[in-house]
Amino acid sequence: MKNRAETPGLRPGTRAVHGPTRDPGGWVSTPVIHSATFSFPTLADMLAARDLRSAGAFYQRLGHPTLSPVEARLADLEGAEAALLFASGMAAISAAFLAHLRSGDHAVCLAQCYGGTVDVLRFGAERFGWGVALVDARAPETWEAAFRSETKLFHVETPSNPTLCVTDLAFAAELAHRQGALLTVDNTIGSPLGQRPLALGADLVMHSATKSIGGHSDLLAGVVMGTAQRMEAVWNARTIFGGVPDPSVAWLIERSLKTLALRVARANANALELARRLSSHARVAQVFYPGLEAHPGHDIARRQMQNGFGPLLSFDVKGGLAAAERCVDSLRVVRHAASLGGLESLACLPPYTSHRHMTPAERTEAGIPEGLVRVSIGIEDVEDLWFDLDEALNAE
Ligand SMILES: *Cc1c(COP(=O)(O)O)cnc(C)c1O
Repeated sequence: MKNRAETPGLRPGTRAVHGPTRDPGGWVSTPVIHSATFSFPTLADMLAARDLRSAGAFYQRLGHPTLSPVEARLADLEGAEAALLFASGMAAISAAFLAHLRSGDHAVCLAQCYGGTVDVLRFGAERFGWGVALVDARAPETWEAAFRSETKLFHVETPSNPTLCVTDLAFAAELAHRQGALLTVDNTIGSPLGQRPLALGADLVMHSATKSIGGHSDLLAGVVMGTAQRMEAVWNARTIFGGVPDPSVAWLIERSLKTLALRVARANANALELARRLSSHARVAQVFYPGLEAHPGHDIARRQMQNGFGPLLSFDVKGGLAAAERCVDSLRVVRHAASLGGLESLACLPPYTSHRHMTPAERTEAGIPEGLVRVSIGIEDVEDLWFDLDEALNAE
């Protein structure tokens, strides 16, 4: 019988449904195996299972039979040799850093990256002797000056939260490699079907699988992907620190991946349509969405993103923070919540969520208007979303 992995030319939307390999006689849905440990008839069998690491069935923290098929599916979608899942996005990102930074090493990171990511790097700077420099995603010409001879890693995120700054990944990879560093990319907002950083030169890609990969706002998980060789160090960090997702979460991720293409296509199309309509709304000063031609990163985004421009958009409500608060409090379909990439449209105010640690002056300096509403667009009917946003913007 033919192995589907050898069927040439299957497109990502098909591979998301079937996975990279499909045993024609096997199960259609991976069974959930709730076993913390596994037993063996002989010592040789035990050692063989242990040597398989994440692909084996030895002890659940090393990897387990519900987890490895979904890791293979994720690696296939992202175009990576190997993928490892974690119990949260932060567990994944911190393991990638712990695996590739030693005491005395230095990392350069975009200041616009997820707050938790910057926190991990600062924690490492305090406790593990890492050097860290933050650079501005809006000024790529300033990045090179931040590199030192000890710089081992350049970490970027594109598009970024909440103003959707777009980073040219091929440029970032060329710079990192010229400086002898790895490029690590947080691809959460793009999703594996929206952007393929490894093809543009990235060395490691990570996602908060809590977002588009999980997609239903019902689980926490993360993933790191790269070459088998680099992922060996990440596997070591996962095994040492223990952030492995349990079998139920692994199964939910497999189930979610089967609809990833549908969800991404619908949410991205909704987001583009709403960004366009919001751009001409009388109560909106500015819309931040890379799909809009006026966005400064539009040309790069068109080159490096597929299937649209992601589910995340932000808009600046005329009247500042008070007007933005009134808008969010008036929404009825879009729910007021942190997180993104789910089926449900969610709105939040960065000054109270992701950027609450900054003063208003620091937010202005970072290009984040006080009246900014961040919305993660879901898969609802776009006309209902538009009606809701329009009513909330017009609320007195
Ligand atoms: C949510 C998020 C994270 C952290 O993921 P958790 O699953 O919450 O730990 C990291 N990066 C980005 C871009 C995120 O949106």
